[in-house]
Amino acid sequence: MIENLQHIYIQQLPGMYSRHNSVSLLRLDLLHPVISGNKWFKLKYYLAEALDQQKTTISTFGGAFSNHIIATAYAAQQSGLESIGIIRGEKSNPESTTLLQAQAYGMKLIFIDREQYKNKKEIMDEYNHPKNYWIGEGGRGELGARGASEILTLPCLSDQAYTHILCATGTGTMLAGLVKKASPDQQIIGISVLKNHHSINEEVNALLSVEEKEKPFQIISGYHFGGYAKHPPALIAFMKELWHAEKVPTDIVYTSKLLYAVKVLLRKGFFPANSRLLVIHSGGLQGNQSLNPGTLPF
Ligand SMILES: *Cc1c(COP(=O)(O)O)cnc(C)c1O
Repeated sequence: MIENLQHIYIQQLPGMYSRHNSVSLLRLDLLHPVISGNKWFKLKYYLAEALDQQKTTISTFGGAFSNHIIATAYAAQQSGLESIGIIRGEKSNPESTTLLQAQAYGMKLIFIDREQYKNKKEIMDEYNHPKNYWIGEGGRGELGARGASEILTLPCLSDQAYTHILCATGTGTMLAGLVKKASPDQQIIGISVLKNHHSINEEVNALLSVEEKEKPFQIISGYHFGGYAKHPPALIAFMKELWHAEKVPTDIVYTSKLLYAVKVLLRKGFFPANSRLLVIHSGGLQGNQSLNPGTLPF
């Protein structure tokens, strides 16, 4: 589907090194200018199953700046499937660039007010048809985790022994995938971008087998900057600083919070000496289009 896997590479972040710890950044954001990062991995097996079941349409859920919505629109089009996006909230004028791009990839949009949107089951009953295949919001679920596990099979990771793998965590599907594929002595750490997401451990565990649950993983909260998609000036300032220091572009929802957490954890001495960190840049840069033009230097 996407032939750009060779664009992905590992960028060292020497500015973040401390106490003999090294920090390597997996630039999944370079996968595709719009469909960047983990969403493409997460969608792969859902699309395969839809085709296998001879479905004609993919339907899914998301907000007006959703990385998942735009990735689904693109991936469905590439697979010769129709797509429908159930969008949270009223249609705005002008529409977000994300939604305009999703429509350019052939997605039909249905706007549902925020109250009704909470009841996914009702919406699914209303819009279902025999040739339709549902993908959960954000691509959450087992097939999503299986797809995400393949992030760790990328050729650029083949001969590196990392002690810790860190990623941003929304639904926890990517984290579960990484746990599946990691070797038993690798620590997987998710930085939660949601506030008060108390059920996250349970949700990740639900995607793991009995043996996988025994692997060392943890989810750290406290780096959400006020909650999902919240981006106070301190976060924007960090994003600019990171860009100037390392030429790493980040997004306001996921990767900026991840990299901020990595920086603070390193400073606090969280990692034992001689740790080799692999940080997953999961993409999502298109979401920055929700900011006023000129807010960021990239
Ligand atoms: C969706 C997303 C995540 C979170 O993935 P989950 O599997 O939902 O935890 C992280 N980073 C980016 C850029 C994303 O779009």
